[in-house]
Amino acid sequence: MEDCIFCKIVKGEIPCFKVYEDDQVLAFMDINPISPGHTLIIPKNHAANLAEISDEDLAAVHRASKKVMVGIDKALKASGVACVQLNGRGVNQVVMHYHLHLIPKIPGGPDLPVSKWEIIPGDMDEIKTTAENISNALNNG
Ligand code: 5GP
Ligand code: ZN
Repeated sequence: MEDCIFCKIVKGEIPCFKVYEDDQVLAFMDINPISPGHTLIIPKNHAANLAEISDEDLAAVHRASKKVMVGIDKALKASGVACVQLNGRGVNQVVMHYHLHLIPKIPGGPDLPVSKWEIIPGDMDEIKTTAENISNALNNG
């Protein structure tokens, strides 16, 4: 896509620190890392989000995430890696080209608020109704 920053990275028009590439995906360092080793994995084909990406590209991104995560673990001795993927401006997606964040927790490194939320028991009736709404939406196309 013309003015998509990640498409420009795929085409080599903007540089990146590449860590992995195959026919379908590219993995490179995030230039505003939440923690050392923060890596992005993208499909080479443009798709804005999870709703748009093809099943094949989605599978390729997540297959690659397994390889890259093992590399991050090995290189950085991470104590854990959060995989985060944002869809839509409401959850602060900034770059509208599907990307999976791999964010390692490095011993002695910064805390990761993204993987640490308060556990507050929900209202079971509300949860049940929401589940039914989602299930109905799925079943009715
Ligand atoms: P989002 O909020 O859309 O999930 O995150 C977009 C991510 O892309 C951010 O973490 C941001 O730092 C990263 N990013 C934005 N522009 C560039 C760029 O030109 N190069 C690289 N490597 N990362 C970028
Ligand atoms: Zn793009």
